[in-house]
Amino acid sequence: MTIFHPDQIREFISHTCRALGSEQDEARLVAHQLVEANLAGHDSHGVGMLPSYVDGVVNGKLQVNAHPTVVTDRGPLLTLDGQAGFGQVNGFEAMQMGIERAQLHGAAIVGLRNSYHIGRIGHWAEQCAAAGFASFHLVNVIGHAPLVAAYGGADARFGTNPFCAAVPGRDGRPGFLLDMATSIIAGGKARVAANKGVKVPPNTIIDSEGHLTDDPNALWYTSKSDERGGALVAFADHKGSGLAIMCELLAAALLGGETAHPDNARDGRIINNMLSVIIDPASVGQAEAYFDEIERYREYLLESRLRADCEEMFVPGQPEQIARRDRAEGFEIDTVTLQQLRTCAARAGVAEIEIAEMLGEH
Ligand code: NAD
Repeated sequence: MTIFHPDQIREFISHTCRALGSEQDEARLVAHQLVEANLAGHDSHGVGMLPSYVDGVVNGKLQVNAHPTVVTDRGPLLTLDGQAGFGQVNGFEAMQMGIERAQLHGAAIVGLRNSYHIGRIGHWAEQCAAAGFASFHLVNVIGHAPLVAAYGGADARFGTNPFCAAVPGRDGRPGFLLDMATSIIAGGKARVAANKGVKVPPNTIIDSEGHLTDDPNALWYTSKSDERGGALVAFADHKGSGLAIMCELLAAALLGGETAHPDNARDGRIINNMLSVIIDPASVGQAEAYFDEIERYREYLLESRLRADCEEMFVPGQPEQIARRDRAEGFEIDTVTLQQLRTCAARAGVAEIEIAEMLGEH
C-alpha cells in the first residue's frame, strides 16, 4: 500500500485522460469524480476505474469529448443520450440541466441513457444537494455480462444497479445521502478484495455451481476456463432483487435505453442508464421548516440506544463524511491497482518517465 495526496492522483488521471485525447474540462471532470470517490471511502469507484476507461477509449467503445444530446425536451421532462461518452461529463451536464429545469419548474425528471460508466452515483446527488435540491436516482449497468442474480436464481441477470437518494442540509451539503448498489457488495468491491487477496463478506457471491461463498475470485473464475463465472447476491433477498429489476425498467426500458437482456449489445462497454428526479424543497413545502425537521430527525435517530451487537450508529451519508475527513490529506492505493495504473497510463501514451514522476517514484 502506498499513500497518495489527492492532488497527485488528480494530476495523474487528468494527464492520462489528456493523453487519450480528452479536452481539459473532460480530463478535469474525470479526475475530480474518481478522486472524490476515493475520498468518500469508495475505492471501488475511484482511480481504480481508470484502466477500464483507458481500455474503453483504446478499443473505440468510450468516446472522448462527447456531450449528452437531447432526445426529448418537455420542460421539466428531459431525456438525454450520453453518446457512450465519459460518464463524468454526461452526469455533470445532465445534472446541471436538471437543476436549471428544477429551478424553473420546482422539479425535474432527467433521463440519461447510453452513458459510459457514471461512477459513484452519490456524486450526482451531491451536485443536486449543493444547489439546494433533493433528488433520487435509479441506475442500471449494461454492456458486460450481468453480475447479479435475481432472488432464487444462480445465474446473473442484471448489474449492480445502484439506487441513490439525497436531501440537502442547510449548508448546501447533503443532509442525508443514501447511495448503494442493489447487490450486497458492489462489483468493484469484489475487484478490490481480489486485488488485495482478501475475502468478501460471507454469502455475498454465488459460485458457478450455485453455492454461496466469500471468495471474490468465484465471481469471475470457474474450474474450467471456458465456463462462465458466478454471480453477486442482491441485498435483502427478494426486496433488493426487486429494486434492481425496477432499475432495469425505470432507468433503461422507460427511457429507450437497454436492459441487461442478452439480445442487447454486450461488447465489454460499461454503459449506465439513469433516471433522476430532482425536487426543490421550497416548491413542495417550506424550506426553513424542512431544514429544521431534518435536523430534528437526525438527532432523534442518533439518540437511539445501540443495538447489542453494534458499537456505533450513523445516518446514511455519514460514513462518507468521516472518510472525507480522514482521507483529506491522502489515501492508500494497493500495489495491484498501482501497477494497473502505471500500465494504463503507458497504454494511453504517457511517457514512462512522466508516470514515474507523477507517482513520486523519482
Ligand atoms: P455502501 O454499502 O458502502 O454504502 C451504502 C449506503 O449506506 C451509503 O449511503 C452509506 O452512507 C450508508 N451506510 C454505510 N454504512 C452505514 C452504517 N453503518 N450506518 C448507516 N448508513 C451506512 O455502498 P455500496 O452499496 O458498496 O456502493 C458503493 C458505490 O458504488 C456507491 O457509490 C454506488 O453509487 C456505486 N455503484 C455504481 C455503479 C455504477 O454502475 N455506476 C454500480 C454499482 C454501485
